[in-house]
Amino acid sequence: MSEKPVLLREDGLRVDGRRPDELRPVRIAIGVLKNANGSALVEYGNTKALAAVYGPREAMPKHISLPDRAVLRVRYHMAPFSTSERKSPAPSRREIELSKVIREALESVVFTTQYPRASIDVFIEILQADGGTRTAGLTAASLALADAGIPMKDLVIGVAVGKVGGVLVLDINELEDEYGEADLPVGIAPNTNEIVLLQLNGVLTPEEFKQAMEMAFKGVEQIYKVAKEAMYRKYLKMLEEVK
Ligand code: ADP
Repeated sequence: MSEKPVLLREDGLRVDGRRPDELRPVRIAIGVLKNANGSALVEYGNTKALAAVYGPREAMPKHISLPDRAVLRVRYHMAPFSTSERKSPAPSRREIELSKVIREALESVVFTTQYPRASIDVFIEILQADGGTRTAGLTAASLALADAGIPMKDLVIGVAVGKVGGVLVLDINELEDEYGEADLPVGIAPNTNEIVLLQLNGVLTPEEFKQAMEMAFKGVEQIYKVAKEAMYRKYLKMLEEVK
């Protein structure tokens, strides 16, 4: 392992110059793919996640279909070119696990009972990885579902809080993730305020955990604002097209 970089500078700022409670620049575009029923591109700084939704459509193979609701299938995948060293395109254990936790987070907001026997397929492709790919991917997936017109009780916005040099920091990048003391990715439904994904690597005291969750909620609120603006832009564009 290479030498640990200084993650918190003497002036209290982070390796990339951010304040502890500052997000990376968030950019969101909705409806970016023509062939998908819904899509979204979400960038948290250098992390770029693309999500595409197909469906509701007839579940194939038939035996996976459910009589009372749609099956939600989620694939989280990192493109081979997304990391500094080429990543094998074959699905890793990590990707299989992340696909599952992201699916469970999305299942808590999608009204699957509206589409018995159908499938809703969500593909998350990480185009560039710099920490927080599961949370950016989760945000992209919920926006792509909304873009596909799938009925949902809320969106899901993801963000990760970390701890570096004993200080809690919002929206950690890869260096902070690798060399920091904790990584707490969270998925929150921004209107109901339900927590739909929560994982912790590393160690936090109960008090730090409470503060970290408060930071996550504040970060989610800011990302949600950018997401709403992106949805608004998409609908304005649609209105222009039908004029
Ligand atoms: P997350 O991306 O949700 O933070 P991890 O904590 O597992 O998930 O990964 C942290 C970061 O480490 C990723 O965002 C990525 O930049 C890097 N990373 C993860 N897996 C790989 C891999 N197989 N090859 C290279 N870099 C990786």
